[in-house]
Amino acid sequence: TKAYLQKIEATKELNAYLDVRPEVSLAQAREADKKIAAGEAGPLAGVPIAHKDIFVTKEWASTAASKMLEGYMSPFDATVVEKLKEINMVCLGKTNCDEFAMGSTTANSAFGKTYNPWDKNAVPGGSSGGASSCVAARIAPVATGTDTGGSIRQPSAFCGVTGIKPTYGRPSRWGMIAFASSLDTAGIIAQTAEDCALVLSHIIGFDKRDSTSIELPPEDLTVSLNDGVKGLRIGVPRKWLDKVAPGLKAALNDALCQYQELGAVLVDIDLPTADLGVPVYYIIAPAEASSNLSRFDGVRYGHRAQKYDDLLDMIKRSRDEGFGSEPKRRILIGTYVLSHGYYDAYYIKAQQVRRLIAQEFDNTFKNSCDVIFCPVSTDAAFSFDDKSDPLSLYLSDLFTVPGSLAGLPSMSVPCGISPNNRPYGFQLIGAKCREAQLLGVAHAYQ
Ligand code: GLN
Repeated sequence: TKAYLQKIEATKELNAYLDVRPEVSLAQAREADKKIAAGEAGPLAGVPIAHKDIFVTKEWASTAASKMLEGYMSPFDATVVEKLKEINMVCLGKTNCDEFAMGSTTANSAFGKTYNPWDKNAVPGGSSGGASSCVAARIAPVATGTDTGGSIRQPSAFCGVTGIKPTYGRPSRWGMIAFASSLDTAGIIAQTAEDCALVLSHIIGFDKRDSTSIELPPEDLTVSLNDGVKGLRIGVPRKWLDKVAPGLKAALNDALCQYQELGAVLVDIDLPTADLGVPVYYIIAPAEASSNLSRFDGVRYGHRAQKYDDLLDMIKRSRDEGFGSEPKRRILIGTYVLSHGYYDAYYIKAQQVRRLIAQEFDNTFKNSCDVIFCPVSTDAAFSFDDKSDPLSLYLSDLFTVPGSLAGLPSMSVPCGISPNNRPYGFQLIGAKCREAQLLGVAHAYQ
């Protein structure tokens, strides 16, 4: 813990952490030492971890990288945080992200952007860009993230680390500052699939405080790590591979060749409905966001304007001052698609297509393959100035949002490097609750 805290101090210019409190981390480390000495500790006791600033924590400020929650101290820990505390993992602090997890660059943070340790012109990805940057820079061995439409997988790919978004509902959402509740999923970013499996095993599990929590017995997700891929049918949506930059395509094909050499069978698949993912996601996610963010009214949480005329004016000014431009944009889109007259045309239609996307994946896993191999993004990390308009950023989520809409476990695995020295990654998508298998497939490659 001491070594990591020193390194965090020495790499401040990355702006990967938003809140570091060495004395609190060191107290947790001493507690872990005591447990280890008494023989009461599990294998992860004393291992440091960084938490994305979407999880609320009692001992560190919880801001969702928004001015709205600047300095906010939660009276309780998120379930994920609590579970890792119980096994004496040591929290190093809170990591930067896009405001309310809305974005793909971590440049939407109200507290400054995070840099990609590989190249300071490249985005670290987002919204869990602080987490992926920490793991890549070795200033955290493992980090939590959240993924609503790609926020664990895309930053992992952009920073050359491994990240997994488990099945929706397997980890509890209790204490995660809500973005889009039907999609928000906690997960893990680490160096390897093995490290992900070790930590993820401890955060999944039923939680009665989350109404969408899946009731399944605890599962050790490391059990399939050494199963190999002999005879495994890997589905490849070839049309998706045709949409990526040539260098990335070559890296993806290399990875596929390696899987073949390891004994996997490649199967061509087609996912035409999943191609509608972006428009569907950018209706459903803002709709839910506009509803979730209505709680920030200056009365109960966070920022309150100093000057106002009456109650309504206080709410208006507090929201205007507290929210950055991306949450505001999503509130507007969400309110629009939920409004009378547009609800059926947009929101209901999007829900219908979402169901069809989930069915398409179900049928694919039933009839054609065991896991799906596809890109995470169309290229390696882009530069900060490359994609400044919101629409091109939204469109760049084309390969990650389908798995989110279907609630499927999916992960990002590093696979080589671009001509301009930025990491590449591929994505694996599995059937519901098959994360152990997915981690095994990633491990076979690594
Ligand atoms: N890039 C997507 C968005 O902006 C995904 C974000 C996320 O998964 N939290 O909504």
